[in-house]
Amino acid sequence: MAVPQNRVTRSRRNMRRAHDALVASNPAECSNCGELKRPHHVCASCGHYDSREVVAQADEVDLDEDAA
Ligand SMILES: [Zn+2]
Repeated sequence: MAVPQNRVTRSRRNMRRAHDALVASNPAECSNCGELKRPHHVCASCGHYDSREVVAQADEVDLDEDAA
């Protein structure tokens, strides 16, 4: 088993972790429906991209359809 040759000090460990923070996403408004969407991604609520529909949206999805 590989064993670390040197102890990593609190300082070095924390310096390494200084770059580990998560960054907030930067959502943009959909030009079709105005919903917030991820940039360069198809709109999840209306299926549009670059002001044309690329994914057909089902009217309503009943999740409990075959639950029972
Ligand atoms: Zn949209």
